[in-house]
Amino acid sequence: MKKFRTLCTAVLFAGVFLCMAGCGSKQTPVEVTPIASDTLFVEKVENLPEDFIFGMDASCVPALEASGVKYYDYDGNEADVFETLAKSGYNYIRVRVWNDPYDENGNGYGGGNCDINTAVEIGKRATNYGMKLLVDFHYSDFWADPGKQMVPKAWKGMDVDTKAQALYEYTKDCLKQLKKAKVDVGMVQIGNETNGAMCGEKQWVNISKLMNAGSKAIREVFPKALIAVHFANPEKVTNYTSYANNLNYYNVDYDVFASSYYPYWHGTLENLSAVLSGVAEKYNKKVMVAETSYAYTPEDTDFNGNTISDGGSIVKDYPMTVQGQANHLRNVVDTMVNKTTNGIGVFYWEGTWITVGGASYEENAVLWEKYGSGWAASYAAGYDPNDAGKYYGGCACDNQAVFDAEGKPLESLKVFTLLKEGNQAPVKPDAIEDTTLMIDLNGTIVLPETVNAVMTDNSKAPVKVEWQNVDYDKMYNGGVAQYDIVGIADGMEAHCYVSMIQYNFLENYSFEDGETGWTATALKTMDELCVENKATDSLTGTYHYHFWSAASDSVEFTLEQEPEHLPAGTYKYSISIMGGDGGDMEIYAYVKVNGEVVKKQPMTMTGYGNWDTAWIPEFTYNGTDTIAVGIYVKCSGSGNGAWGKIDDALLNSVSQ
Ligand code: CA
Repeated sequence: MKKFRTLCTAVLFAGVFLCMAGCGSKQTPVEVTPIASDTLFVEKVENLPEDFIFGMDASCVPALEASGVKYYDYDGNEADVFETLAKSGYNYIRVRVWNDPYDENGNGYGGGNCDINTAVEIGKRATNYGMKLLVDFHYSDFWADPGKQMVPKAWKGMDVDTKAQALYEYTKDCLKQLKKAKVDVGMVQIGNETNGAMCGEKQWVNISKLMNAGSKAIREVFPKALIAVHFANPEKVTNYTSYANNLNYYNVDYDVFASSYYPYWHGTLENLSAVLSGVAEKYNKKVMVAETSYAYTPEDTDFNGNTISDGGSIVKDYPMTVQGQANHLRNVVDTMVNKTTNGIGVFYWEGTWITVGGASYEENAVLWEKYGSGWAASYAAGYDPNDAGKYYGGCACDNQAVFDAEGKPLESLKVFTLLKEGNQAPVKPDAIEDTTLMIDLNGTIVLPETVNAVMTDNSKAPVKVEWQNVDYDKMYNGGVAQYDIVGIADGMEAHCYVSMIQYNFLENYSFEDGETGWTATALKTMDELCVENKATDSLTGTYHYHFWSAASDSVEFTLEQEPEHLPAGTYKYSISIMGGDGGDMEIYAYVKVNGEVVKKQPMTMTGYGNWDTAWIPEFTYNGTDTIAVGIYVKCSGSGNGAWGKIDDALLNSVSQ
């Protein structure tokens, strides 16, 4: 069904009809209809509410435009990026606000130099295309996140009550400016990723005081706007309960408990919905994702390294492709709509932040410094010497934008228009999953004939692969080494990472998995014969095999393993023992073929910590007989009875 956005569209919000009254007369109606895509697969999101929030943080746009960046529409024509966002189903724009992101000479700190003036400009453009504004007060002069919540320069040294008053007045002044500019403010955030700190305060009693000062200003200027608190790290599952509890205890006035969710850092979607639903249900709050993003490519486009990049073509649950980005977004929305209590929306973070387009780092750096279009300019050093002052530069998320490096919209930007009905583009391979192989030094190298393709619907299917220029001689003769074998599968590059290793053909060689793989046979009645968890008594790891028996002549047992699928070949075998009070001892490592001991190597116990390691240096195996390796222990015992520890059995191939 077509939906036509007009000046005073009535929007159902929290059971109350709010009218976007007083939005000014310049508004350009934007029609939101599904934008056809031949390639993008979009699984339908059931139960999608009409008023679900699809937001974009576009804080850097003015600085980027000043730096020469142009944005285009789907037809390749230059277009106002806010219009393209509105046509792509975005109904909210988010903007961060820093108190004073400038040095004493008026040079901007970067990151868009986002102060209230920038917010007003962005707000007017968003409102013009029928989108609401989420105002994200950091209450700092530069980036506020879980790592830093620095107080603004002007508020330094204030006691908390004075600071609260300053924050109230500042918030009120900013919001009045937005109101005067007829910006459609729908939501205001009191702090950004305030994980236990805000504006230089670290105690909840003080943080709450500041938050409530902000809330008071918001209720006075925009009584119908939603007030959001914002946190990060939902993967630390008890944190959100604790934050919400503190907010409740100190009576912080807010409506929305918002979370950042970056899938490569912040745990699973199941966990996200669980922790947010917990808060929503216990405290009767709305919840949302205030920031999320995903990479459409592992490549950097602006000569400033990115937060996430390659490490193989697959990271987490999605490939770094346009389709992977769309699948991530679709699944976050589905989680908030169908699996989370009171989920009201999802904001993409800075999907409009692309390269300023220069041909070198130096060329770009000039623009970053001049217009604040990089994450930080050198001018921020005075305020933030340890982070911005050291690492200032360009954009670290250009590969997570929803526009390409030229400013053209990616197919993934269409996803919000396609969620309601889904888009059943034919499913096809989208990326190739890396293959890893571990091959014994003396084994046979067999590369796989197929590799897994990640399909556009995020399922997996095998596709044929042609490996290129494989140097088998080098791999067979190069000893312990790693190789990256490149192939072509369905027109895409495939990688097989081969590790040539000294393989241990024994399972659970160090008893870290308990008895698994091993059989202990007591030949006399012993007091103790079992796996023991005690790092100080283990040769490696925390587990080993332990024995003890008090009576004389009561220690006699074998401990052995029949290696599975051992190829025919030549091998060596080793095992270690330490112990004491053995009296007369007969101890040996052995190899059995068809139940008969064919090789043995004597061992001894000489006291605590004196590990004796036996090697059976070479024996051949025909690949068909029954084979076992093990240790035989027999002690007459002395003193308090014989005891000992067995650990670290190795069965390795030997070159012939
Ligand atoms: Ca970059």
